[in-house]
Amino acid sequence: MSSKYIALPKGVSEKSFDAAIKEYRAILGEANVIVAEELLVSYNKIMIPDEDEHHTPSAAICPSSVEEVQRCLAVCNKYKVPVWPVSTGRNFGYGTTAPANRGQVVMDLRRMNRILEVDAELCTCLLEPGVTYQQLYDYLQEHKIPLWLSCPAPSSIVGPVGNALDRGVGYTPYGEHFLFSCGMEVVMPNGDILRTGMGSLPGSNTAQVFKWGYGPYLDGIFTQSNYGVVTKMGFWLLPAPPAFKPFVIRYQDEADIVQAVETLRPLRIANIVPNAVVIVHALWELGSMLKRAEHFDGTGTIPDSVVRRLVKENNVGMWNVYCGLYGSPEQVEVNWKIVQGAVKASGKGELLTQEQVGDDPVFKYRADLMQGKMNMREMGLYNWRGGGGSCWFAPVSQARGSETLKQMAMAKTILDKYGFDYVAEFIVGWRDMHHIVDLLFDRTDPQQMKAAKACFGELLEEFSKAGYGTYRVNTAFMDKVADYYGPVKRDVNRKIKLALDPNGIIAPGKSGIWATGGKVI
Ligand SMILES: Cc1cc2nc3c(=O)[nH]c(=O)nc-3n(C[C@H](O)[C@H](O)[C@H](O)COP(=O)(O)OP(=O)(O)OC[C@H]3O[C@@H](n4cnc5c(N)ncnc54)[C@H](O)[C@@H]3O)c2cc1C
Repeated sequence: MSSKYIALPKGVSEKSFDAAIKEYRAILGEANVIVAEELLVSYNKIMIPDEDEHHTPSAAICPSSVEEVQRCLAVCNKYKVPVWPVSTGRNFGYGTTAPANRGQVVMDLRRMNRILEVDAELCTCLLEPGVTYQQLYDYLQEHKIPLWLSCPAPSSIVGPVGNALDRGVGYTPYGEHFLFSCGMEVVMPNGDILRTGMGSLPGSNTAQVFKWGYGPYLDGIFTQSNYGVVTKMGFWLLPAPPAFKPFVIRYQDEADIVQAVETLRPLRIANIVPNAVVIVHALWELGSMLKRAEHFDGTGTIPDSVVRRLVKENNVGMWNVYCGLYGSPEQVEVNWKIVQGAVKASGKGELLTQEQVGDDPVFKYRADLMQGKMNMREMGLYNWRGGGGSCWFAPVSQARGSETLKQMAMAKTILDKYGFDYVAEFIVGWRDMHHIVDLLFDRTDPQQMKAAKACFGELLEEFSKAGYGTYRVNTAFMDKVADYYGPVKRDVNRKIKLALDPNGIIAPGKSGIWATGGKVI
């Protein structure tokens, strides 16, 4: 390679990039502007079925303050250098830290990691982007503040700001994370600082308690987008309930999922069960504790007969539904009776409590997530197939039993065609379900890489044709998904982009939004 950089931003000459790097260094110091190949390795480590080189960053810059972010964006505008902002940068299975396109500079916000405020009475907090869930959890413990946070499964090592900005989910009653955010500070592409909602009003102390402010509600346009760099975000925290009762309902037949959804939906909508109900397929449970090669050495998808045997041997259900009850002991007792009655009336499912499952580690990990405790067990999924390949296929549907069987059949047919296993769960929000399929493959095997890419493309295509859009997608398929959502949506997104960021310096291509040009898949 003749260049001293491992990649260059599209359309930027090496000379211009030299000048930009020099200016970033003047702002951030040598150590916080990274261009050496060996130091950029972690910024280019992806799990998705796409070539690393499509996502190779040209550099990483690590500001430590809002003012440094502003000054870096001014340099970006001057030299037309695009930056890809990340908060904790662990968007595993969606692109991790690496930018959507080769040559973008990663703006790594991990140094901005202050917990600015926790209000124990109003149950709110204000965080910088680099704060991890572990940090917030430790803070609450150390200060004996009886509040629970809500985290996604990789819990300790990821963070509330990045997760909520990508509209990620957790498992407590506050599990729809963006819904429970309140107020943002955003550095706009021209360097202006926007405080959303009540935050715009000088002297207001209501930014973390009233979401809407005055006029159009803007916070949503900074999620899954590239219209600004979010430098602070407020969240609501859950008062620790006096009583918490996690439970699991195990179903032994795949078709029983219809009954599971029909039984749980009314309880969920009525908030008897107030948290996101997770309906976990056997292969997800088994995948987080076993290695596939030790149980099946044939080719293609693991056969149903092997799955059924492993289900018996490992004492899990074909579907495993995890929920929690929260409130005073009296409330929990009343709601528990309602749950028992509903499950009994459905005629299906084995209802088990903490006491009945004992120290089952799988139950413990689900119970931990349902109370916002750190637990990394789900990372075990990467031992199932090995080789580090993963991408999440995440179509949304109505919370109806009939939708589950239809979606499962569609997903299994396509996965089977390419020899991948159905490692999946359904997460019942309030009235919707996210069907989450972890497409696991060996990234070191070129054939599996190719097959996984084709398989993922076909899943998107067939589900979109059937009217099932994905709620979130990895960086290799953002344009494709933007197309499925139609030309008008794409056009509006682009017009906003052009108005706010005419030079296209922030995360070009994020969610298929470009100021100019674009990528063809
Ligand atoms: C085993 C496993 C289980 C998982 N389970 C879950 C789960 O239960 N729920 C879930 O939601 N996810 C899950 N994930 C996916 C992912 O790891 C998490 O969503 C994680 O929280 C995202 O990474 P992050 O928090 O570091 O966000 P980041 O990577 O920092 O941010 C995500 C994206 O948001 C944008 N962004 C971030 N910060 C900013 C900013 N300051 N300004 C502007 N844009 C920004 C960028 O586009 C960035 O790529 C799982 C992953 C694995 C491997």
